[in-house]
Amino acid sequence: MENKILDSSNNETLFTGGTSRLRLFFLLPLSITILIIIFALSLILYHYKNSEIYNETVHINVPLEDLYNENIRYDVQALQTIMRALAQDEKLYDALARKNRELLLRRASPIFEDIKQSFNITHLYFTGTDSVNILRVHAPLRYGDVIERITMHQAEKSGLAAYGVELGPLGTFTLRFVDPWYDQNTHKLIGYVELGMEIDHVIDKLRNILGVQVIVLVNKEFLDRKKWESGMRALGLTPHWDRFLNVVESEQGMNTIPRLLAERLVHGDKITNNSILKSVEKNLAYRVTILPLQDATARSVAKIILLADISDELSESNKMIYMGSAIVLILGVMLIFFFYWLVGRIGRHIEKDEQALHDLATHDGLTGLYNHRFFYKKFQEELERARRFNHTVSLLMLDIDHFKSVNDTYGHQAGDAILSALSERLKNCVRSIDWVCRYGGEEITVILPETDKLGAEQAAEELRILIEQNPFDIGNDQYINITVSIGIATYPLDAQEVPLLISAVDTALYQAKEDGRNRVCAYSLTKNLEEKD
Ligand code: GH3
Ligand code: MG
Ligand code: MG
Repeated sequence: MENKILDSSNNETLFTGGTSRLRLFFLLPLSITILIIIFALSLILYHYKNSEIYNETVHINVPLEDLYNENIRYDVQALQTIMRALAQDEKLYDALARKNRELLLRRASPIFEDIKQSFNITHLYFTGTDSVNILRVHAPLRYGDVIERITMHQAEKSGLAAYGVELGPLGTFTLRFVDPWYDQNTHKLIGYVELGMEIDHVIDKLRNILGVQVIVLVNKEFLDRKKWESGMRALGLTPHWDRFLNVVESEQGMNTIPRLLAERLVHGDKITNNSILKSVEKNLAYRVTILPLQDATARSVAKIILLADISDELSESNKMIYMGSAIVLILGVMLIFFFYWLVGRIGRHIEKDEQALHDLATHDGLTGLYNHRFFYKKFQEELERARRFNHTVSLLMLDIDHFKSVNDTYGHQAGDAILSALSERLKNCVRSIDWVCRYGGEEITVILPETDKLGAEQAAEELRILIEQNPFDIGNDQYINITVSIGIATYPLDAQEVPLLISAVDTALYQAKEDGRNRVCAYSLTKNLEEKD
């Protein structure tokens, strides 16, 4: 059966690999581009959201510091005013001048109760010119010790009022105001009066106004461990000096430190302003704002840490990032599917066109047989193969007898119909490895690979009989009989090269015609030579 449309060796067209390759060419870069876009978009979204959160943190810093300083300044003014009022009290004045404890206590107690209620004053001291404490109105049982505090020293040194925030042994901060009192007549120093207030209310204010967690961390280097621990115990608290590397938590914060921050502090990590503490697995996040707390000598003894819970904002932003990525991914997948379909369609069109082009280039339009050009190429290939494997190849050349008169009698169309039907008959009759080609006009060649002269003669004879014994339909219920003459040439017996073999087969066909037509004639070298002689 010779129904081969395409020879595999001849199938190497421009469109080799076909649609699947085209898809790869289009879809691979497209998919990579989409992936890059998703990645870039997520990154941009992430940075945009993060900078949004960061900017909010920056905005909170300035008011925070102002708020704190403003409050301290306000408190200092309050202390100053109260101190001025106290200094007007002559009885108090006399009692201090005479270092009369009883009198001082009696006179100062109601005043202290009053200012404690109204102004958060927590400490009131009366100290002698020798710095020995005469009376602590807030703790009357403790007295007689030398007051060793920065503000006290400053007041002693300058002879003027001194004030500032001071770190206590328990890690708490007190705003102190020390005023030296002088005899109005002699201008001699009679002693020192000190007012103090804990800064808890300032911290409370920060917490309430900003709605954040406030934690006060004191640098260990400014504390005495023993005093701190015993003080904590005295307050009924368990001291955890070693919990963190460099700091202890001041009770003034009155907050439990979130685990995220605690972990960082344990390792002595530096927590910087504006940083964001994040725990990925729990979706927790805090925005950190730091306010360095300075004492009266401007030493940074502690830090007020504000933690704003931004977990919701962050998960919101993460959601946005995921959603954005998902939308782009879905669009990308849709795009890929669309292009997959489109490329498939285009590919099939191209394949069809390529196929048609190839058919046109290799086939004859009227008979559907391989054309002259193809015949040459194929014959050459078959010869090469035969040479390589030491095989024989035979070539038949078939010519319709008196075809001119068929055309003349029945018309050219009838001739065409015969030619076409004859070709079909030949194709159906030969083996699948044989090649039937239209050599030109009504001459048809058949390549018979791996066939010697005898085999070729038998095949040719079969074809001849098939044509002779079966009339051809030329339309209008008309059937006519035709005959063919067939020439045979065999490789390597008759010739070894394509042109010589064609010439030999031509000679054989001429011989068949000469011998009376409707016959098969194999080329014979000796006979040919004899004739030439
Ligand atoms: P013979 O071969 O027996 O010697 O005689 P012939 O009449 O067949 O002579 P020849 O082979 O030389 O003639 C070829 C003729 O075939 C000429 C032409 O009219 C006819 N022919 C060639 N190609 C076609 C074709 O495509 N269609 C038709 N209808 N006729 C064709
Ligand atoms: Mg002819
Ligand atoms: Mg002819």
